[in-house]
Amino acid sequence: MRLSRYFLPVLKENPADAQIVSHRYMLRAGMIRQQAAGIYSWLPLGFRVLKRIEQIVHEEQVRAGHIPMLMPTLQPADLWRESGRYDDYGQEMLRIKDRHDRDMLYGPTNEEMITDIFRTHVNSYKDLPLTLYHIQWKFRDEMRPRFGVMRGREFLMKDGYNFDVDKDAALHAYNRHMVSYLRTYERMGLTAIPMRAASGPIGGDNTHEFLVLAATGESEVFYDSAVTDLKLGDRAVDFDNRAEVAGVCKEFTTLYARTDETHDESLFNQIPEARRKVGRGIEVGQIFYFGTKYSEAMGATVVTADGSRVPVEMGSHGIGVSRLLGAIIEASHDDKGIIWPEGVTPFPVGIVNLKQGDAGTDAACEGLYKALEARGLEALYDDRDERAGAKFATMDLIGLPWRITVGPRGLANGKVELTSRRTGVSEEMSAEDAVERIAQIYAGR
Ligand code: ATP
Ligand code: MG
Repeated sequence: MRLSRYFLPVLKENPADAQIVSHRYMLRAGMIRQQAAGIYSWLPLGFRVLKRIEQIVHEEQVRAGHIPMLMPTLQPADLWRESGRYDDYGQEMLRIKDRHDRDMLYGPTNEEMITDIFRTHVNSYKDLPLTLYHIQWKFRDEMRPRFGVMRGREFLMKDGYNFDVDKDAALHAYNRHMVSYLRTYERMGLTAIPMRAASGPIGGDNTHEFLVLAATGESEVFYDSAVTDLKLGDRAVDFDNRAEVAGVCKEFTTLYARTDETHDESLFNQIPEARRKVGRGIEVGQIFYFGTKYSEAMGATVVTADGSRVPVEMGSHGIGVSRLLGAIIEASHDDKGIIWPEGVTPFPVGIVNLKQGDAGTDAACEGLYKALEARGLEALYDDRDERAGAKFATMDLIGLPWRITVGPRGLANGKVELTSRRTGVSEEMSAEDAVERIAQIYAGR
């Protein structure tokens, strides 16, 4: 993408109403535009990151054996009357009437709808296990939408639902989600800690929240600092192997990590004092096992191997896709701007032309741009007629992890400069070597 032809409405001033750094930088970097309280347009740069995050979520769900689909944003109220949640949900639910005076709502979540789909089409244990998910906009009429996309009213969520014949199988689905979520967050450059949580309106007593540690987080968290060192890395996990998946979960949940809702002071005090941490966290996901709560209320049953009919065992699992942009920025920035992890960056690399209009420099930049493109890497090429300082400031603000700087002085020696946004370290090398380095960094992204 050539910046001269892109739409990147960068703000020079700090927006006055943005209280936390991620919100400030998303506005300043021209990623989002607020349209109403808690409702945002996703401008091109923000949209690219959102799509990138969605892509990672999809890949890790499919890897775990889960099946993508899409349910609508609008739902009939009657489904929610069946589960009893139409009245329980309260003012967070946006209720709408259509022209025929039928009660509708903008879905805050999809347990009822997926249970309806299941009961219509599935009848036998032979069709299980089954996990369906979608990535769809939700609406919750939050009392205090704030912090930009972190607590919106309209927000993008991945929500998945497992259907299993018995509790053991449903707990395996729970564990599968825990492991796939851990890898999802790791690929986004995040350390998200699974913490025992309270279940709230979804119901059930088996639930973990995934929290990214950040001073601006809304949840108070208590944890053993050793938990932050745990990583899945590229360890292969066989998602069909119950014992193996349970074993991985155990590694992550044995160490103490809880939100304030489930915190137990006496257990906490058993951790060696130096490792006992109290902090704040951003909830980026939650998984639930709730058994037959919805299937019983809505008559979703299956015939088992011995011919009896039982309500299907279920759980639901959510990732805050749009909130993740904020969480990633909270975890990865400096005073100049965002520092995107390679996994989610909107463009893998930026090219800064130090002397736009100079034939040799322009040609070298064009050559680099095309060479990167040939390797499947779309650079953001700053080809504007601007001062170098302004170009650097824009690149730093929007946070691309790598920058290639091209100017007549370097080119005289056959060199360009490759700079890491994270470390600030620059290296001189030939344009070919720079392309090769970038290609290696993103191999397998
Ligand atoms: P919170 O406690 O932050 O209000 P929740 O527990 O009600 O969230 P869930 O029903 O668990 O939310 O939804 C799954 C995920 O969706 C959450 O972990 C969070 O990342 C995201 N999410 C929930 N509410 C919002 C919101 N208002 N804006 C953006 N993301 C949200
Ligand atoms: Mg939650």
